[in-house]
Amino acid sequence: MSSNQAWFERAQAVIPGGVDSPVRSFRSVGGTPYTVASGRGAYVTDVEGNEYLDYVQSYGASLLGHAHPVVVDVVRDAAIKGTTFGAPTPGEVLLAEAMVSRVRGLEQVRLVSSGTEAVMSAVRLARGYTGRDKIVKFDGCYHGHSDALLVAGGSGVAQMGLPGSAGVTAGAVADTIVAPYNEVPTLNDSIAAVLVEPVAANMNLVAPNPGFLADLRAECDRVGALLIFDEVITGFRLAIGGAEEFFSVTPDLWSFGKVIGGGLPVGAFGGSKKVLASLAPLGPVYQAGTLSGNPLATAAGVAVLDHVTIDDLALLAGRVKNFAADLETAFRDAGIYALAPNVGALMGLYLSEGEATVPRNFAEAKVLNENGLYKRFFHAMLSRGVALAPGAYEIFFISLAHTVAELERTVSIAADAAKEMTA
Ligand SMILES: *Cc1c(COP(=O)(O)O)cnc(C)c1O
Repeated sequence: MSSNQAWFERAQAVIPGGVDSPVRSFRSVGGTPYTVASGRGAYVTDVEGNEYLDYVQSYGASLLGHAHPVVVDVVRDAAIKGTTFGAPTPGEVLLAEAMVSRVRGLEQVRLVSSGTEAVMSAVRLARGYTGRDKIVKFDGCYHGHSDALLVAGGSGVAQMGLPGSAGVTAGAVADTIVAPYNEVPTLNDSIAAVLVEPVAANMNLVAPNPGFLADLRAECDRVGALLIFDEVITGFRLAIGGAEEFFSVTPDLWSFGKVIGGGLPVGAFGGSKKVLASLAPLGPVYQAGTLSGNPLATAAGVAVLDHVTIDDLALLAGRVKNFAADLETAFRDAGIYALAPNVGALMGLYLSEGEATVPRNFAEAKVLNENGLYKRFFHAMLSRGVALAPGAYEIFFISLAHTVAELERTVSIAADAAKEMTA
């Protein structure tokens, strides 16, 4: 019972589609998913003993690479002391302090257990605080799977070719307005909040146009709407202070996830003390969680934030920039037009048979994501020991454990893969 095929069959018998999150399925690329037995640094090993250089990295939850010793140690120590209590613990305070001290304008956070919960709660808070109903989101941005936010979602929703989800009532999305990314919508005073991924990283990568975020800030201020940065991917990765620092635009509310859990389930939302005072027990906006601020997860999160330096992220961004340029060249040498837009440590990859321009919104990204080239590249890489996300709508997650040598090796493997694709 240790082949990928056997595990996947067993999984499909008891788990719908054999996966606990649709992005993990090979629906859009075809084939059988590898089942991971373990991971270390930049690598994962499947149940057959195959090792892959891993660019999935839990979709961004792992910044230091898998099973980093500082994370393993603190999680082990925390587990010995008890895993959950339903009472305040020092770890929650330490993680909240670590976040607040790094992100300008972030005065308080409430910890939750996932990015979905974080965004859902931030939206509820924005509505409760402003007394308004409507929210604006952008086409192709993903903000977790809560009812009101799945509409026009990126990531798995886009990968499955769905406009949203069955089971979501018209009422649940009636107050969600969808706008194209990189265009500032004209707001009015019915809008509670504008929710945005400061760098769109769930439709492949779409960078904000210069001024887009600042103009959004100004438009929100004009009508008294709150600006929410969904920093579940960008937080503590784009810069120590996240997108706020990178773009020098300060939102009213933030949502976080992924990096801040160090690979364990954590999310957080936060903002100024003034806005956060609307949350129960201080105010009328209710939000809660049995496992919120879990001691294992907070210990891992603090360990990661304490470990990562400004220099680490600058170094990583530099590596990613070179990696992107080298990948583009390798593809072009093989006759495929590749675009690898990158912002800090975030990188996307679009493949095209003819010349193409870098997408600025979901409609443009979709054309390139759906041209069928990515699935061939994906399998050509997988068979050469490099694991990419099994869908063209995701970005590359390059951890601090990915060395220059490993990135260079990836480029030469990609060159081989590209030649196979054009042969
Ligand atoms: C992953 C993601 C979420 C959802 O986080 P989960 O932990 O999967 O619930 C929300 N927003 C963005 C931008 C994400 O990338």
